[in-house]
Amino acid sequence: MAYKEPVCSFCGRKKNEVDLLLSGTEGHICNHCIVQGHDLVQQELYGVNPKQKKKGKKSELPKFDLKPPIELKEYLDQYVIGQEEAKKVLSVAVYNHYKRLMQPESDDDVVIEKSNIIMVGETGTGKTYLARNIAKMLQVPFAIADATVLTEAGYVGEDVESILSRLLQAADYNVELAERGIVYIDEIDKIARKSDNPSITRDVSGEGVQQGLLKLLEGSIVSVPPQGGRKHPEQPLEKVNTQNILFICGGAFDGIERHIAKRINTAPIGFSTDKRMDALREKGDNILRFVSQQDLKSFGLIPELIGRLPLLTYLNPLDRETLKRILTEPKNSLVKQYEKLFGMEKIKLKFEEEAIDYIVDQAVIFKLGARGLRSICEAILTDAMFELPSKEDVDEFVVTKQYAEQNFERSAFYELKLVA
Ligand code: ADP
Repeated sequence: MAYKEPVCSFCGRKKNEVDLLLSGTEGHICNHCIVQGHDLVQQELYGVNPKQKKKGKKSELPKFDLKPPIELKEYLDQYVIGQEEAKKVLSVAVYNHYKRLMQPESDDDVVIEKSNIIMVGETGTGKTYLARNIAKMLQVPFAIADATVLTEAGYVGEDVESILSRLLQAADYNVELAERGIVYIDEIDKIARKSDNPSITRDVSGEGVQQGLLKLLEGSIVSVPPQGGRKHPEQPLEKVNTQNILFICGGAFDGIERHIAKRINTAPIGFSTDKRMDALREKGDNILRFVSQQDLKSFGLIPELIGRLPLLTYLNPLDRETLKRILTEPKNSLVKQYEKLFGMEKIKLKFEEEAIDYIVDQAVIFKLGARGLRSICEAILTDAMFELPSKEDVDEFVVTKQYAEQNFERSAFYELKLVA
């Protein structure tokens, strides 16, 4: 049989016309077609335009359906109850942030800097929920990271870059999309250094992680392992520019009230501040309202980190009234969710007012906050959700206080909480 010179099965180029010709079981592929194929994969699967990427050309300005802050807040109002101040601060911050992204480069020297945000408030008061809803509203990729699992590079735990791996995953590996996303870093207070005076204790773990976070927050190009972690050491790193990523940090900052009170008391504003703080507390006022950057520093965040989180806001603890509203009012409140679930079985679910009050009371008694509402509802409704789908003649189910009480007090959840 005569020798047949190998040619690329895709473009037909001969071996001497190309730099590389790879052989497969059925044919060959040349270097030109490999590059073209790679570009196609990038475009089809990840939405990245390789030509723009290669020429370093700025991609088109992102187009957002960006609403003014009042409308942004109105959107948040549908989901997040109370927390008026935090919603206002976040709406303005997010509006300015994305307006800045949509602005073409101007000739003057005025550069609008990015404003990352830090929120202080008890756990379960809606910090993560706020950040998540903002990302949902803007339809941008969103990732949550827990500061407590982060460690300095080289130690056991997650490197700070893993935060961006998560964002990349949320963006379906589209780097451009990820670069306009939102990251929520939870429990930022847990990486505070233990002493305000760095020379007394060198608390390496906390401070090291804070240092590590600086480069993400300020806006730099970070090499990110797309699959995250150290399990896939062979993966090629992806370069992500964090300049336009909005970072929102949150923490409970347990005990920060003491720092706030101390600062206010030592400030020369009068002799009665101590009494004033007590009076505020008695009135049920939230002292976090007065939180300032200085208090975060006293708590143990390093000044450089605080400087990169210029917007500071607070959340209120959830009182009984707010918990009740959370249970019933938001667009996807728990009550509405259960009504929908039962509705799918063609059963009309009704909660009596007293049953609602009972659920809220239990959340308050056991100090479970908004998160506990769900566990309590589950404990109450599990039997009904187990039995009703098999019954054909039920078209309405009313949760009375008595039913709620009976089922909740029978639940393992209740017993465990009693013991605790
Ligand atoms: P945090 O991040 O402050 O610890 P989360 O945002 O995770 O608290 O809140 C836990 C859950 O409680 C949320 O998923 C949400 O369902 C509910 N929740 C908390 N605060 C509110 C609120 N103000 N309005 C509506 N739901 C809330």
